[in-house]
Amino acid sequence: RYHQAVKENRHLYNMLQELRGNIRVFCRIRPMFHEEAKCTIDYIGSDGSLMVIDPAKPQNARKIFQFNKVFGPTATQDEVYRDTQDLIRSVMDGYNACIFAYGQTGSGKTHTMCGPSNRSNEDMGINYMALNDLFQISSIREDVKYQIRVQMVEVYNEQVRDLLILGSLTGLLILKYKSTLEIRSCSSNGGLSLPDASMHLVQSTADVLDLMKLGEKNRAFSSTAMNERSSRSHSMLTVHVHGDDISDSATRSCLHLVDLAGSERVDKSETTGDGLKEAQHVNKSLSCLGDVITALAQKNPHIPYRNSKLTQLLQNSLGGNAKILMFAHVSPEADSYGETISTLKFAQRASTVELGAAHLNKESSEVGELKEQIDGLKKALAIKE
Ligand code: ADP
Ligand code: MG
Repeated sequence: RYHQAVKENRHLYNMLQELRGNIRVFCRIRPMFHEEAKCTIDYIGSDGSLMVIDPAKPQNARKIFQFNKVFGPTATQDEVYRDTQDLIRSVMDGYNACIFAYGQTGSGKTHTMCGPSNRSNEDMGINYMALNDLFQISSIREDVKYQIRVQMVEVYNEQVRDLLILGSLTGLLILKYKSTLEIRSCSSNGGLSLPDASMHLVQSTADVLDLMKLGEKNRAFSSTAMNERSSRSHSMLTVHVHGDDISDSATRSCLHLVDLAGSERVDKSETTGDGLKEAQHVNKSLSCLGDVITALAQKNPHIPYRNSKLTQLLQNSLGGNAKILMFAHVSPEADSYGETISTLKFAQRASTVELGAAHLNKESSEVGELKEQIDGLKKALAIKE
């Protein structure tokens, strides 16, 4: 009876989400690094409102923003996950979902998605908790046989790279050799737009931890200054879920978990050489994301997905067939005021985007298998050419 109740509850939740259908936005404010520093956050409402104060004009310039939820500096990883969980669980029912973390460097994006930089196992981020949750559901549901596989890539200087290539030394060579992955459209659902990125079957959280370590190592391999690099590249963990039902229907869905590059505007006069190139690419792909979001918000007939790799990768999700949650991260210090306002404005715009109702990706097992065969043949053809 418990399972039946949980199932009905989830069904209701899914229906509600389909009716709502906007990009949901959660704002998260990280703790102050120094208590004595000036703070720009004036008020956090339990209804998702947030008041920000201009440190230069504290008397007269309060700005108010409204989101689905605001997490203050004391919010724990568990609290954040609790509000994210239902969206993640709907992936097991056949819905696509996409969560992305936006904000300036140092505002807590990686903390939310991966966990704290000191790697304490208690404070794991959404990536790990999501997979843990999916494994638990998969072990409870006796009527469905699930297969969970993951891919992890980064987008750096407008190139997409596989982060889960096995083998340390060979990994380095392959990483250089296969430096760019092609984005392709596929007939089978689940947004498998990177057919050449390695795909890893995962069965336990231990498997996931191993892969995350590998991903970090491969990321570090191709860079000299890791921190610099991670603030200039987008990383994306994609979880593909196949569910085969006893009644012979199948669900194919995917969950994108994206840690975006830092959104700060880089002063071009201060950066030269490679740094300038990176900064321009970051600015370009995030401004393309902004353009796509604006076009979606205004219901333009043409949505400019093709202008950057990032928006191409997210096209399936942003195009309407997914539930989307954006985390807008802000730093509370007064000297981040400008970036904080620009992040909050971006997030406010995103929250007005109406998505079509996310479809349930469910069909007979036979159709699913045929679609996969088609993709396999397309891939084989592409290799021949
Ligand atoms: P970003 O990925 O946006 O550049 P990080 O996630 O690396 O930022 O966060 C910057 C620093 O602040 C890290 O040391 C991180 O552990 C810490 N931090 C961020 N958010 C929180 C939080 N909610 N609670 C505690 N520490 C945090
Ligand atoms: Mg980061």
